[in-house]
Amino acid sequence: MARPKAAMTARSAETSAQPCEDCGAPIGGRERCDKLFHQLIARDFSDALYFGSHRLLVDCYAMQHERYIHSYKSFAAHLTGLCCALEFADDAKLMRAIHLGLDGNVKGDRPPVPRDRGELTILSVIHAGGAARHHEAVRAWADSVWRAWSQQHELARTLLRELRIAAENTNREL
Ligand SMILES: [Zn+2]
Repeated sequence: MARPKAAMTARSAETSAQPCEDCGAPIGGRERCDKLFHQLIARDFSDALYFGSHRLLVDCYAMQHERYIHSYKSFAAHLTGLCCALEFADDAKLMRAIHLGLDGNVKGDRPPVPRDRGELTILSVIHAGGAARHHEAVRAWADSVWRAWSQQHELARTLLRELRIAAENTNREL
């Protein structure tokens, strides 16, 4: 029995593109993926409607791309950023504690990056039209990345606890 020919849609053409070596998005390779990331960042700074998800977008991308989390400090910043966004509703004091606490010389051994880094990638954000959908897409991406890093959830919570205590102990205005 002859099989019906699959229609060549834009989407199937895209999925045949070379995947990014880091996140796996069929996007045309790592450099292209990085280029799109920087385009999104540029839009965040040129269009205020998009800026609300800027920090979370950067956390998602970094946790899927090893070059951005080489150092323990960067890893800890993005991991705790995700945790704060998803488990503490973007608590502003906690976000500030991350910023202040990780400003110094943070040391530790970064755990290995998981092979599975989440089923959603930057592609799902690029395809989201309009600011409202963009924010939803970044949130869904964050959920996906956070799940992929499930082995480090406890570490993230511990780090956040320590950062909060350190911030309170320094009596800084948070
Ligand atoms: Zn990528």
